[in-house]
Amino acid sequence: MTYKFQQLPQLVDKRGKLPSKGSYNKRANGVKSITTRVWHHSLTKLSAGGSNIVAFANFHVGTNGWPEIAYHLIIDPNTIINGKAAIYYCVDISKRSYHAGNSNTIGLGICVIGDYRTDKLSEVTIRSIIDLHKALIADGIGKYDKAHNEMPGYSWKACCVFDYNKAFKDVLSDLLPPAKQPDPVPGLYTIQEGDTFWSIAEKDGPAGITVNDLIAANSGVDPTKLKVGQTIKLGKSQYAYTPKPDVPKKPQSSYRYPLPSGVLKKGARGDSVRQLQKALAAVHFYPNKNAKNNGVDGIYGNDTADAVRRFQRVYVPGQVDGVYGTNTKKKLQAVLKSKGY
Ligand SMILES: [Zn+2]
Repeated sequence: MTYKFQQLPQLVDKRGKLPSKGSYNKRANGVKSITTRVWHHSLTKLSAGGSNIVAFANFHVGTNGWPEIAYHLIIDPNTIINGKAAIYYCVDISKRSYHAGNSNTIGLGICVIGDYRTDKLSEVTIRSIIDLHKALIADGIGKYDKAHNEMPGYSWKACCVFDYNKAFKDVLSDLLPPAKQPDPVPGLYTIQEGDTFWSIAEKDGPAGITVNDLIAANSGVDPTKLKVGQTIKLGKSQYAYTPKPDVPKKPQSSYRYPLPSGVLKKGARGDSVRQLQKALAAVHFYPNKNAKNNGVDGIYGNDTADAVRRFQRVYVPGQVDGVYGTNTKKKLQAVLKSKGY
């Protein structure tokens, strides 16, 4: 029969094509004997010349005197087939190969080429480990996964050193690009095509996330170099999805120096001009210090325009025009407050 693992697009069948001198015996109960998928690494550095299946076969057959290469399946990070590390099918799984001593009868030998005391598992290798593992499970070949040194009598052995469990489970999220799916963690956002910090802030409206929130929460991120699929933090702004309730504004009449609304400029007269003049005088921008009442007379003339201009020069430097409007009002209110009014 043909197993699912044999149909993996990165698998190459090398059974009977590697150096050998005979054949291993069949397992007593055939493939059903296999209970454990035993994971090895070759302990040869990936960069070394002998890190290939022919060299392993020569060593096992020529030096060790075994009938065939030790492992049923070998993953080769140095050979990429269909975008993933090659998987070589070396010894028929019905045979009892030599890779785990007393456990050979129940063990399936899988070797990842490399010395993972120093080499690192590459993405293409992890993908093949995962593919092979899934296929073997689907085929019902083995029930357990064990590293070579987890087998009876092999705790001394530096095999395998890579964390095969991690490769099966969570290594994907550590090493592979994040899959495109809704953000599972509140407070995180995955950059979509065309996103900028400004557009993300915009989505949430003026009461929610601000660009400054995003910059503060993502200190290592250059907002001009966002990449599609990159995850950013929404930071404290994650709590700001619900617009803050409007705090009712205190009526101006409740202040000691109520400020007029609207725009006032040269030529204006009346109570609102008087209010403005009193407020300016309270923070030492007198319309005319030498005049009666410091020039508070209800007439928006040159003196008052000059007082407004002096105030603006200090507090609204972008708008020094001698005209009282929204920005000047806001700032004047703040200055009055800071002086205890
Ligand atoms: Zn081993």
